[in-house]
Amino acid sequence: MLDDAGLQALREAALLSPDNLPLRRHLAGLLLEKGYLAEAETEYRAALMLAPKDVDLTTGLAEVFVRQSAHGSALAALEPFLASPGYPPRLGVIAARALLGEGDPGRAAYRYHEAVSRDPSVGDPGLAARLALPPLQAPAASHPAAAPTGSPYGTPPPAAPPYGTAAYGTAAPHSGAPGGGEVERSGVTFADVAGMEAVKEALRVKLLLPLQQPELFAAFGKRAGGGVLLYGPPGAGKTHLARAAAGELGASFVNVGLADILDMYIGSSERNLRATFELARRSRPCVLFFDEVDALAARRSDMRQAHNRQLVNQFLAELDGVDQNANEGVLVLAATNVPWYIDVAFRRPGRLDRPVFVPPPDTAARAAILRILCRDKPLAEMDFDAVARITEHFVGADLKGVVDRAVEAKLHQSISAGRPIPLTTADMVAAARSTKPTAVREWMSTARNYVMHANESGAWDELMPWIKGNRW
Ligand code: ADP
Repeated sequence: MLDDAGLQALREAALLSPDNLPLRRHLAGLLLEKGYLAEAETEYRAALMLAPKDVDLTTGLAEVFVRQSAHGSALAALEPFLASPGYPPRLGVIAARALLGEGDPGRAAYRYHEAVSRDPSVGDPGLAARLALPPLQAPAASHPAAAPTGSPYGTPPPAAPPYGTAAYGTAAPHSGAPGGGEVERSGVTFADVAGMEAVKEALRVKLLLPLQQPELFAAFGKRAGGGVLLYGPPGAGKTHLARAAAGELGASFVNVGLADILDMYIGSSERNLRATFELARRSRPCVLFFDEVDALAARRSDMRQAHNRQLVNQFLAELDGVDQNANEGVLVLAATNVPWYIDVAFRRPGRLDRPVFVPPPDTAARAAILRILCRDKPLAEMDFDAVARITEHFVGADLKGVVDRAVEAKLHQSISAGRPIPLTTADMVAAARSTKPTAVREWMSTARNYVMHANESGAWDELMPWIKGNRW
């Protein structure tokens, strides 16, 4: 271990040789290790100027943020890497800590699980305990939900989780029941979804009309059911759209997050998935929505773990249904920010056969979203078009953030004044100026890479105009 004199010598060397990347990397790591967090942050930032997309430096900087409780900053730094499955496992653990800090134990557990299953040495028992994952103890087989030998899923169950006897269930914030996901009644319809006319039309034809006019579709030998893959940048409104589709149809809505399905015990995730489909079948007509579906439907060729492949197989089997009528009246909507990682088998007819791009909103759509978001707010005057013009690259979720922020500021003023003061354009402009949009541009540039180099089947044609338009 380096003493402080040694550290001082390194600091001086870095001052003398500011472009020496290995030196700066080393120094940043030592500063982090010794807990000089502010200085480590400066050093990581300086090193990142030299190597802007370096994954280890970004992970280091994110750890500095986490240790300073700046969890949002940590996630913002890690986000571009988390979108691709091969990120370093240590990065996944830091992301899990940040997600937990942000109050999202479900995703935190997923990231942790994913990282540790690839590299047991990055495990953090303290974090696992905080994620309510049972500590290192019972082997998988002793868990009541563990798959019996001679699993009903075909192939023999693989060995226990790769990190030894560590066995844990994913924290399940949505419901305690296995195969979680709850049946909701959606209070929103397409009228609550601004813009996206083409997307709504695609969903109408694919999902709604077959249920509303079954005779017509039967005449052409088409059945109601099947699924749609919604893809696009985060926050563009995929979940909102799915919920609205359920409302539009008067169908029940089952919203499935990863935490409802993923479980470290062999066989349990498959069982959860089956229970979720069964719940949807019992609640038909039903829109069954899978968020972040890439985690359940990733390309099997990319997977090292046999049990992950089994989960994908199970998902395909559920989509097909045991008999022809099994999924009658069950509409599967699945959302992902990384559609290119989904196994192509999902695109076969009757599965998630129709990829639908949910685009970031243009100026007119942003104004329409703002109008919807402000519907129940006290307004003095509001030039929605002006706010839309200054929020280029903002998606629906960002605009929601802007409105929340403006309302909060107004609430403070109203409390001081002792009376409600309505919102103005200036309030909204101020809130927009202090809000950083999510990384739509980064998403577009990643999408460009995939679409330009891997669009043989034409699956991503819808994205082409956006990418070629070069507005991003
Ligand atoms: P995604 O699932 O793509 O990450 P969400 O559906 O969670 O995005 O969007 C976040 C929020 O943004 C929604 O809850 C909704 O309030 C708002 N929003 C997004 N798109 C729209 C839209 N087109 N019209 C109205 N509100 C929207």
